[in-house]
Order: sequence, then structure tokens, then C-alpha cells
Amino acid sequence: MIDHAVPTDKHLLARIVLIALAGAIVLFGGTYLFLSWSTENIDKVSIDRQIAVVKYDVGLFRAQVDHDQESVTVWDDAVEAVRQHETEAAQEWMRVNLGAWMLSYFGHNGAFVLSPTGEIVHAHVAEGEHAQPIFDDLRPMVAPMLAELHDKLVRGDTEGLGDRVLTVGVSDVLVVNGRAAIVSLKPIVSDSGAIEQVKGQEYVHLALRYVNGELLEDLAEEHALAELQFSLEKVAPKGFAILPLAANNGTVVGYFSWDPYRPATAFLSTIVPGLTIIGCLIAAVVSLLLAQYYRRTMNGRAQDERIRHVAAHDGLTGLLNRSAFEKRVDSLLAERGDRMLAVLYLDLDRFKQVNDTLGHAAGDAVIREAAERIRRVLPHGAQLCRAGGDEFNLAMPCGSTDEVEEACQEIIGAMNAPFEIEGRDVFVGITIGAAVAPLHGSLRGELTRKADMALYSAKDSGRGTYALFGARMDALVRDRAETERDLRLALDDKQQFEVVYQPKYDAQTGTITGAEALVRWHHPQRGLVSPISFIPIAEETGLIRELGRFVLEEACRSAAHWKDTSVAVNVSVVQLRDPYFAMTVVSVLGATGLNPRRLELEVTETAWADWADDCLHNMKTLRDLGIRIALDDFGTGFSTFGRLQATDVDHLKIDKIFIDRLGSSPGDEAIVRAIIDLGKAKGMLVTAEGVETAEQQAFLKDAGCDELQGYLLSKPISLDALEEIIARKGGPSDSQRRRA
Ligand code: C2E
Ligand code: CA
Ligand code: CA
Repeated sequence: MIDHAVPTDKHLLARIVLIALAGAIVLFGGTYLFLSWSTENIDKVSIDRQIAVVKYDVGLFRAQVDHDQESVTVWDDAVEAVRQHETEAAQEWMRVNLGAWMLSYFGHNGAFVLSPTGEIVHAHVAEGEHAQPIFDDLRPMVAPMLAELHDKLVRGDTEGLGDRVLTVGVSDVLVVNGRAAIVSLKPIVSDSGAIEQVKGQEYVHLALRYVNGELLEDLAEEHALAELQFSLEKVAPKGFAILPLAANNGTVVGYFSWDPYRPATAFLSTIVPGLTIIGCLIAAVVSLLLAQYYRRTMNGRAQDERIRHVAAHDGLTGLLNRSAFEKRVDSLLAERGDRMLAVLYLDLDRFKQVNDTLGHAAGDAVIREAAERIRRVLPHGAQLCRAGGDEFNLAMPCGSTDEVEEACQEIIGAMNAPFEIEGRDVFVGITIGAAVAPLHGSLRGELTRKADMALYSAKDSGRGTYALFGARMDALVRDRAETERDLRLALDDKQQFEVVYQPKYDAQTGTITGAEALVRWHHPQRGLVSPISFIPIAEETGLIRELGRFVLEEACRSAAHWKDTSVAVNVSVVQLRDPYFAMTVVSVLGATGLNPRRLELEVTETAWADWADDCLHNMKTLRDLGIRIALDDFGTGFSTFGRLQATDVDHLKIDKIFIDRLGSSPGDEAIVRAIIDLGKAKGMLVTAEGVETAEQQAFLKDAGCDELQGYLLSKPISLDALEEIIARKGGPSDSQRRRA
């Protein structure tokens, strides 16, 4: 079959795409992993740091509470006031200095003064709160702290004391009234040392500061902690930093939590848009480069493919060309094995007429369509080639000659339907010759020669047929060679040739109007040979010029005596192409003395398509001399009414096949009527040839045909017989009628 070039390589493309994809995934994935790993690490370090800082600060806050206390507990006035706590003045003093001051200035939430025995002698809490329930809650937790402080005081413990911390104290983190709080105990001592105090018998100041409150606000503000919270339960959202707050004994009292600042994430989020753009740019550049690379590769490959394709294929049809085909045939022959290989020569019928009448574009369209139709019915594995012009070659592996015949029938069948070219139906047939290896040879040269001979023979037996090479074809070829040789010999003295005449009659009156000269060959061995078999050989060999001149001379010489009856002579296109043909005719007319107006030259319509400039020139010259030109076999060739309009001919001869079909279908009758009307409209004489029945005659007469010719009226007859009719100047003789 036809191998189409495939200029794309899907595998290569897929590979490139895969590599690009993998590269992108590795690059982006790696970058992503690295970034998220490092971000997490950096953020973790930062969060740990935030926790440490907050923890440290919370520690400071705890320390701050007792530091705040010392501003009032190391004070002579305070020692005196607490000793006189039962007086109203002392209470007032304590309210102002040991209570309100602590709350308003330091932000404490509660201040209590306890007697050496642990009794509450003064209490100060925030407005709206009640001291008693708070202290009731505190009492059991404070008892061990008091004991510890007492112990420290008695022992004269100085650990931790210095410039900042003047007195020992005990502090802890407790849950008071459902809230975590820093609770700090400090002895109330003399700052001057002027007041006598027994160690362990000091009054004690208890400061209470809830964690949840100003402390939290301060922390949040100080460290810019977002959503800082403190709760007794560990309830922070995921990702929040958590710092447990533990009491002295290690039990966790509650948890600080906040949305930690993640520097790496923050950094990343500022650079992500930039990174994304850079990534996209890189991806775009890489894609572009890859696409370019791909296109180049593909272009290169496509170019190579195209060159190889052009070298091996026919441009018009895309089929293999002859040289590529020959290579295929050689390799098919080499790998044939036991199987057969058929080589077929195919030749379009009537192609030349299409090309010449409708133009090259139409011809190309026919070739393309024909190639496509053949291609559609080809058996598997067959190789089709356009050998040039309207010739195709086909090689097909097969199992039997039956398969070859089937293929031939398929192909011929495929060409049956008309070709629609430029809006009109064109009938193009095909003729096929085939030779089969190993029956007819096993070398390409031998097979192609024999396929060609078979084609020749098929054409001989009528177009639209096929023939397999057979022994008889060798004989046929020999026969042609013999005919040619004998024709040459016969032309030496022309004794074997006779010219007979077939009369033409006026369709309306039935009187003879003229006669057509038809050549006869009396072969010494073969007897009467039909012009149908030797005229084509005479044309191919060019012998028709000499033979044609002989007939012309004979006919003119005879007709010169016929008063007003005209003579028609068939002229081959080979003669017409001869630039001196018109001169030949003129000299024959001069020699015989025939009036040019009584000479008519019949040119076949098939040949008309071939008319080259020389033909047209001859025709014009001849018409100028008054000689009439008849278009013979009209309707069988490829002329169209349109073309007929533009042609200068004097006479139309409707082909016998149309006359034969009269009476079989109204459509055919309409065609004949149309031809007659057209011819008459153009002022042409219209003759119907091959009239065999009275019905045909009646129809043609009715349709307005001018002349009738055919076996019904007269077969071709000898000159003597014709001259007898002319002398009587009438219709066909009774004897002729009877014979028909
Ligand atoms: P054509 O020019 O179309 O001639 C008509 C052919 O049809 C003649 O055959 C004639 O005998 C035959 N014919 C006429 N009426 C009837 C009929 O009613 N029924 C049948 N069945 N046939 C009829 P012929 O003489 O065998 O000539 C065959 C062809 O050979 C001619 O066809 C013409 O093309 C060619 N030819 C004959 N003589 C010459 C010649 O001198 N020069 C050239 N160039 N060609 C010639
Ligand atoms: Ca004729
Ligand atoms: Ca004819």
C-alpha cells in the first residue's frame, strides 16, 4: 500500500515531555522540601526562643511581685501600723499603703496582712470582689508557705538576698478562686532596724497577682505575642506556642499559649510571590527551549522524511513513483518464496480526451480520483505506483491467478461510476494487463514486458477490460508484426486494396445525397481483412498516410463523374497532423478535377480531442477551400456540446451506438433529439449512421435528422453498384432493402 510519511515522532516528544516534567518535579519538589524543612527548623528555633524568653519573663514577673512588696514591707511605719492593726487609723494606713497602693501602682489583685499566727488582720481586693472567700480558698495553700517563711525567718536564712532583695520571702503559683495567681509572702520588717522584732514573729504581707490580667497584657505587649492566652487547660490551637506554668512542687498550674512569630514562614511568604514568578519564568524558558528543540528535531526529521517521500512518490497522487516501485517489485520478488507475485499495468481509457478538452486541472483531478478509487479496492500488501501520465503499475502478492482476476474486476468496477469533474460527469474506464511470477517469468523485466503485452492485448479486445498474459499474446504480437509487414507490401502496388462506398440518403425525401468511401483489403492468404483490425496498425506505423492518400485519390477520381452526389472520405488524425495534408488534398483535387464542395472529410470525434495546431490549421485551410468537415462517431468521444459550439465543423455524424438504443429508453431518444437540434441550430448537417430498422428511420425522420446511413438503406457497395444508384438518382435499391 502507500506509505505515508509520518513526520512526527511521538516517542521522542513523549520522552522530552517526560524529562521536562521529571526535571520540573525534582526541581520544584526539592526546592519545596528544602524550603519547608528549613522554614520549619528556623521557625522551631525561633519558637523555642520565644518560649524561653516568655518563661524568663514570667520568672521575672514572679520576682517582680516580691520586689513590689518590699517597697512597703521593709518600712518602720508598716511595722508599727500592723502592730496596731486593731485601731482604725492603722487600718486606714494599711488600706492606703499596703493595699490600695499595691493594687493601683503595681497592678496586684489582692493584698493581705497576716498576723504572726496566720490570722488575717487586713485585706484589700479589687473593687467588686470579696476578700473572705478568696482568703478562705488561699488559707490551706498558704499554710505550708507560711511555715516555710517562718522557718526561713527563724533560721535567719539569707539565701538570695542582696541589693534588690532585702528580705526572705516565699512565693508560688497557685490556683485561687479558679484562677492561676502568683502568691508571694513577705515579712513586714523595719527598714531602719530601730524597731525591735522577734525572728519568726513578724507580720506577713501576702500579695496576689492573677496571671490572667495585666500580667498577660504586659507580656503580650512586651514581646508582641499574638493571641497570648493563659488557661488552666491545655487548649491552644494547633501550631501555637505553649509554655506551661508550674508551681514550686512541679505541678503544672496552667498554660500560656500564643500564635508564635515564625520568621522563616514570614520571610518565605514575602518571597513566595517573587519565587513563584521566577519559577514560572524558568519553567516558561525551559518549555520554550524544549519546544524549540522539539520543533527543530521534528523539522529536521520531517524534512528528511519529505525528501525521501518526494524522491519515492508521485506528487499528484502520493503513490510510489516508477523507480521506487521497481525497487519494491525487486524486493517483493526476492521474498516471494512459494507465493505468486502479479505485476499489473493499468491504463486509463479516454484520459487524453479529458485532459485535452477539460484542461490539465481536470486531468489531474481525474488521475487523483482514479488513484484513490484503485487504492480503495487494493488487496492487502499490494503496491500501487503511478508510472506516468494515465498509467499505473501494481504489484500484488497472491496465491492464485484467480485472485489477480478478482483484483482486476474490482478495479474496473471501481472506475465504472462517473467522475464528477467541474460539475459534470465524466466517464473514464481502465484497461489492465497482468503477468504473474513465476508463471510468466521471475525477473522484473520479463514480468513488466509481459504485463505490458497483456495490456496491449486487453486494449485490443476493447477498453474497460483486463487480460492476463497468455501464450496467445506472443502470437498476437507476431500477428501485428505480420500485418504491418503485409501492409507495407500491399502498399507497393495497392492491388489488394479496394474502395467501397456506403450511400447516404436524404432522411425526408429518401434520395441519395452522397457516399462514404470505406477501404477494403483483400489479403492474398487471409482474405478480406476488416479495416477495424488494420487501420489502427496503419495509424501506429504511419502507413495510414499512404493508404489514406490512396483512398482519397480513388474516391475523388470516382466522385468527379457523379454530377452533384458528394463523397466522404475518412481521415485519420495521423494524416491531419501532417502539416502538408491540406496541400496533399489540394493536389488530389487538382489531379482528379473534383469540385472541393463535393468532398467531405470525416474525422472521428475521438481524434478531434487530439487536434493539435497542425490539425486545426489543416482544417481551416480545407474549409476555406470549400471542403466540408464531418465529425464522425459523434457522442462516443469526449466532446461536449459546449465545445461543439466553439468548433468549426460542417457536419455531425451521430454514432451508431445512439441509433441502436433508440426505442429502448426515452432518455436516449431525448439525447438524439438534442444532438440533432444542436447541430441544426449551428447550421450543421446531421447524419445518423448505422440505421438498421424502419423504426429508427421513422424516428430520425421525425426528429428532423438530415441524412441517414446504414444497413437498412445500403451496406457499403462497390463503385459500380453505387454508380448505378446514382444514375437512377433515387432511394436505396430494392435488392439493398431486402438484404437489410
Ligand atoms: P466509420 O467511419 O464509422 O464507418 C462506418 C462503419 O460502420 C463501416 O465499417 C460500415 O460498414 C459500418 N456500418 C455502416 N452502416 C452500418 C449498419 O447499419 N450496421 C452496422 N453494424 N455497421 C454499419 P467499416 O467499413 O468496417 O469501417 C470501419 C471503420 O474503419 C470506419 O468506421 C472508419 O473509422 C475506418 N475506416 C474505413 N475506411 C477507412 C479509410 O479509408 N480511412 C480511414 N482513416 N479510416 C477508415
Ligand atoms: Ca466514417
Ligand atoms: Ca462513423
